[in-house]
Formats: sequence, C-alpha cells, structure tokens
Amino acid sequence: MSYYVTTTIPYVNARPHLGFALELVQADVLARHRRSRGGAVRFLSGTDENSLKNVLAAEAEGVAVQDLVDRNAAAFAELAQPLALSFDDFIRTSRDPRHRAGVAHLWQRCAEAGDFYRKAYTGRYCVGCEAFYNDAELVDGRCPDHGTEPQEVSEENWFFRLSRYEEQLRELITSGALRIEPASRRNEVLALIDSGLRDFSVSRSRARARGWGIPVPGDDDQVVYVWWDALGNYVTSLGLGGDAPAEEFQRWWAGEGERVHLVGKGVLRFHAVYWPAMLLSAGLPLPTRVLVHDYLTVSGRKISKSAGDVVDPAELVARYGTDAVRWWLLREVPRVGDADFTEERLIARADADLADGFGNLVHRVVTMVHRYRDGVVPEPTTVTTATSELRAVCARAAGRVDAALDAFDYRTAAAAVWTLVEEANRCIDRTRPWELAKAERTGARSAPLDAALAALVAACREVGEQLRPFLPDAAQRIVERCTPQGGVLPKSTPLFAKLGD
Ligand SMILES: [Zn+2]
Repeated sequence: MSYYVTTTIPYVNARPHLGFALELVQADVLARHRRSRGGAVRFLSGTDENSLKNVLAAEAEGVAVQDLVDRNAAAFAELAQPLALSFDDFIRTSRDPRHRAGVAHLWQRCAEAGDFYRKAYTGRYCVGCEAFYNDAELVDGRCPDHGTEPQEVSEENWFFRLSRYEEQLRELITSGALRIEPASRRNEVLALIDSGLRDFSVSRSRARARGWGIPVPGDDDQVVYVWWDALGNYVTSLGLGGDAPAEEFQRWWAGEGERVHLVGKGVLRFHAVYWPAMLLSAGLPLPTRVLVHDYLTVSGRKISKSAGDVVDPAELVARYGTDAVRWWLLREVPRVGDADFTEERLIARADADLADGFGNLVHRVVTMVHRYRDGVVPEPTTVTTATSELRAVCARAAGRVDAALDAFDYRTAAAAVWTLVEEANRCIDRTRPWELAKAERTGARSAPLDAALAALVAACREVGEQLRPFLPDAAQRIVERCTPQGGVLPKSTPLFAKLGD
C-alpha cells in the first residue's frame, strides 16, 4: 500500500526556525519508518511563496519579491542535509511549473461544481495568518496568533461555498474516513463544523496582492487566495492538471494508500476543513489522516520571527550535530502540549542517551567481544534466562515502534528503542561476562559467555535497526560496529562525542 506524507509549506518571509524543523523531522521519521518496513513512500515538502507576507517582507528589505523568496526558499530546501531529511520532492509554489497549472485546474473543477460566486466583502485581515477574522475570533480586537490588529479590508472577491460541505465533512470525520489526531484536535474540528461553516473568500484583488500570486482563471483582476494556492501543492506536485499523464497522481492520491498531512495546530482548520471541502468540490479523494503537532517554545517563550530569539536549526546542527538535534525533537517533544527548548536540555538529553546510552552500550559490548573472543561474535550453544529475556525484548521492539508511530507518538516510539539499551545493560549486569571469562582461565570455554555476547551483539544491532528512522546516521554507525568484517567486529571507537562537560 502506498504512503504519501507531506509537511505544510511554510511562508518564506524569513529563514526557517526550530519550530518548523520539528515538523520536518517528524514527517521524515514517518517516511523512513515506512520505507524500512518495505512500503512504497513518497515524502513531499516545499515552500509557500505566493503570499502577501512575502511581498511585504521584500518591500521592507528593499529587494525584489522573487529574489527574497528564492533566497529564503533555498534556506528551507537546504535543511535537508543538516537535518538528514529524506524528502522525495520539494515544491516551490512561485517557481514550479507544475503548481500554477495545477492550481488553475483545481479552480476550474470547483467552478464547474458551481461553488464560486462573487461578492463585495468587508472583513478584518491578519497578514501574518493570511486569513480573515470575525469579531468572535479576535482577542481584544487582536489576532489570537500574532497579537496584532488585523487590517480592515473592503473589496469584491470570489467566495467558495464551504457551507455546502458541512454535513459531508462532519460525516467523513466522525466515521474516521478522515482521521484527525490527536482526538482533542478532531473534537476541535467537529466543534468548528458544529458552529456552522461560512463561505470564505478565495481570491484577492490584484492591487492588494501587489500583483504577486496566481491569477484567477478567467478573472485577471483577482489572484487566487494564497491558502487556496498553497493547499493545492499536495496534489499539484503529483501532476494534477499538468501536461504529463497523471500517473503520479493516480498512484499517490487516487489509490488505496494512505495520504498523510503533518500540520501545526495553528493551521488545523485549513487542513481539516477548507482543504477537504475543496477536494470534495473538485470531486477528488481526501487525505486519510491529518496529524497535528503542538508548538515549541524557546526558553519559555513562543517562537516568533519578530522577537529575534529564533533558533536557527542549521546553526544548532553546526554546533551539536544532526543526531543530537533530531533526538531532542523526537525524544522530548510530547504528543500533546507544547515543549520548551533550551540548549541545556538538548545537551543533557544527547549526553545521557546518545553518548552514555547508545554509545556506551555498543562500546562495552564490542570491547568484550574483542577481549574475550578476539572480536569474533560467538555462536550461542545454550540459552540462559537473561539472554532469552533480552532476545524476547528485541523481538518486540519493532512492533512497539510501529504502534507508537501509528499513534503519531514519537516520544513513545523513541522510548521503545531506548528500552533495548536498558534491557541490554540489565543483561550485562545479570550475566557478569567478566566473571564468566575469569572462570574460563582455569576451565572450559563458557557456553553462558558465548550466549551472553551473542545476545548482546544482536541487541546492539537491533538498537541500530530500530533507530534508523530516528537517527539515520548514528543508526548506520551502530549497525556497522555490530557487523563483522572478515569474521571480526571492527574495533570500538566512540560513536558520539560528549557535548557538555
Ligand atoms: Zn495572525
């Protein structure tokens, strides 16, 4: 079964921050995990470039919009290397020839369904959110997300008949055809639907958009609302509406497989209400799952580009390495609730789990195999309680990781791998290989020592295998340490440098 997983596409009015790195890494883990289980996977990321926000950022800097979006989009695409991201495709909405044609096609389909009408409109618009707000949604007249006063806008726009899809959306979400997780987010969407869905404006005057964006088909005075345009990326990147035969679209969006969107809590309504309604109108299949993450704070404060306390993920990796950054994001951020990032926490977690945990275990085991068996992993000729228990825990590890990731719970999945380290260390404490080796000096070769070393090497290798989706580089190093070359394990050298001291 195919598995198509996407991140949201961020505005490129500024460089990436750590909050978005969380979403990228989470999506990457799902993609790598599915591939490691033999599934057909497509992983998409990209950048949202046709936004007024980008125009204003370019004006503030005194540069051309295209130059600004090119520069910042590159900074997002270039996160692939430091964060070890395995996306198969990266779509840029202002540059990609697939996108413009696809958005126009999507628009035409909804127009043919009779779901657009023109209307004069006055509303309050937050450029930060690129969204209109009504009075009830504002907090003291300010945007709940940005704390800024939205600007009053009066113009004639195209409206989309969202209200028409209220019943269908409720049914799809209630039946689980469209799964929204965690359940609290699903309930939030159902409450929103129950409060009544109102048609929304899906175009902007060309003048207000400063001429930047995709023209509305058949109406050159209007450009397509940036959210409409951006949401389309999930199918335009598959060739919908393009010249080429839509094989990719058929394979990843129209088949039996899963279609999974990772999104931050702030853009839930766009992905769980607007986007499915657009697809219903266009007569296209819906995503199967929307997975919602909460936000990171940094040193107790909300991440805000304007506050100037942004943590640059590439810089963080330059200082501490890919493994440490990914591990913190996956091991520390809970499934529900915001998580607070500090460099102290990142260092403490990396040293405790990577250097003192994974690294130390593999070092101990490989060193014992060299000391007691000249580097040759022995064939076990007996089974002891300690080794059979360790092997049983190893055999369950993959299933525990599968279950946790299916529940979108990275912390529990990472903890399942960590359990292997604890169990292997417990096995060492129980079997006391050094005492078995001492007894060998005056007697026969110890079958329990062979059994212990064999089980421990197998456990370390399983740690490496299960760690692959989380820490691809470190996992490969661990597996190599546990794989004989010319019949002998490589000599142990440190797997992880200590970051603190
Ligand atoms: Zn806002």
